[in-house]
Amino acid sequence: MEETNLKEILRVLNDRFEGRLKPHSVAAALSEPLASVWPGGPEDVQYLAEVAQRYSVPLAVRGAGIALEADPPGGILIRFDLMRNTYVPGSEKDYWAEAEPGALWLVLDNELRLRGKGLAVYPTSAPRATVGGWLATDGIGVGSFEYGRLRENVLYASVVLPGGELQEVSGESLGEVVGQGGKAGIIVSARLRTRRATTDTPFAVAFDHIEQLLESVEDITEVALPLWHLALLNPAMSRARGLGKNYLLFGAYPSEREEVVRWLDRLPEDCECRVLGAAETYRVWGQRFFPVAPSFPTPRAVREFVSPPQLPERLSVWENRPTQATFSRSGEVLILSLEEGEGTQPARAAGTP
Ligand SMILES: Cc1cc2nc3c(=O)[nH]c(=O)nc-3n(C[C@H](O)[C@H](O)[C@H](O)COP(=O)(O)OP(=O)(O)OC[C@H]3O[C@@H](n4cnc5c(N)ncnc54)[C@H](O)[C@@H]3O)c2cc1C
Repeated sequence: MEETNLKEILRVLNDRFEGRLKPHSVAAALSEPLASVWPGGPEDVQYLAEVAQRYSVPLAVRGAGIALEADPPGGILIRFDLMRNTYVPGSEKDYWAEAEPGALWLVLDNELRLRGKGLAVYPTSAPRATVGGWLATDGIGVGSFEYGRLRENVLYASVVLPGGELQEVSGESLGEVVGQGGKAGIIVSARLRTRRATTDTPFAVAFDHIEQLLESVEDITEVALPLWHLALLNPAMSRARGLGKNYLLFGAYPSEREEVVRWLDRLPEDCECRVLGAAETYRVWGQRFFPVAPSFPTPRAVREFVSPPQLPERLSVWENRPTQATFSRSGEVLILSLEEGEGTQPARAAGTP
C-alpha cells in the first residue's frame, strides 16, 4: 500500500482514538503492524472493522497472547486492555455472567465465588487468558467433565463482523464467525454459563502405573460418576509442581454427591493407588493453573484433542515433558504438554488455593 494511504489511515484512526492509538513506523509497515489500538467499547470495534474494510488493511486481535501469533504486517492490531468489564447478576437464581473480551477468566471466576457461584468451565491458563482469547480458540478446561467444551457454555456472544456489523451468535455457532486471528469476527462481549459452587470439594489419587489410572478413568466414565472436573498429571508434571513423582488423578465435585465419596472410599480396594489426604489434595488443587501466573511469562504448550483410546500412546510420546490431560463429557481429552525447558522452575506461587 502507498505511503500516503498508510498516513491517511493513521490520521483517520487518530481522529477517533488519539491517546488510545500507538502508531508504528509507516516505513516498516511491510513487516510490522501499522498501529495498535485500544478500543473502549463495541462501537469502537465496529469503527475499526469499517476502517479496515474501507482501506483493505488486515485487522488482528490480541488477548493475552498465549497462542503466540505473528502480528499482521501493515495491519491494525486491536488490544482489549480497556474492555475488561464484567457483570454478575445479584439474583441467586441467575446462572450466567457477562464479560468483555479483555477480562481475565480467573478475575471473573473470583467475582462469582464471592456470590457462591463459579464459571461452568474455565481454562487452566485462567490467571492470564482473556475471555476473548479462549472463546476464539474454544477448548476443554476445568469443569468440562460435567459441562463439556467451552462453546457449549456460551449462552451467546456479541461479535463484530468484517465491515462493522454487530451480531449476536450462540456459542455453538461462534466457530463459524470467529477464528483466523480475528480476521473473520471479533468478540466484543459474551454471556457465559455459571453454576452453584459453594460445596466444591477436590480429590486426588496417586498411581504408580498409568494403566491402573486409566482403568479408574474408564470405571468413572462407565458408572457416570457425577464429578465436576477430572484431570491427570504425568510424573514429569507432578515433579514440576512439587507434588511428588507419581501419576496423579484429580478433580472436584459438589460434596452432596455422595456417590463420589463412596467411590473414593472403595478405590484402594480395586487398585494399587493412594487416595491423598486433605492437605495434599488441596496442594494438588491449588496448583491447577501451574505454570500460568499473572507475574510470570506464560510458557508455550502443545495442545492436542484426543479420544480416550489414543491417550496411552499420546502420554507415552510426551512422557519426558510436564503434561496434563483434562477429560470432557464430550468424550474428548485435552492434552497440554509444556515445551522443552518450560515449567521446570519450582512450583512457586503459580496456583491459587
Ligand atoms: C499453560 C497453558 C495452559 C492452557 N490451558 C488450557 C486449557 O485448560 N484449555 C484450553 O482449551 N486451552 C488451554 N490453553 C490454551 C490457551 O489458554 C488458549 O489458547 C488461551 O485461552 C488464549 O487466550 P489469550 O487471551 O492468550 O488469547 P490470544 O493468544 O491473545 O489469542 C488467541 C486467538 O484468539 C484470537 N482472539 C483473541 N481475542 C479475540 C476476540 N475478542 N475476538 C476474536 N478473536 C480473538 C486471537 O487473534 C488469536 O487468534 C493453555 C495454554 C497454556 C500455555
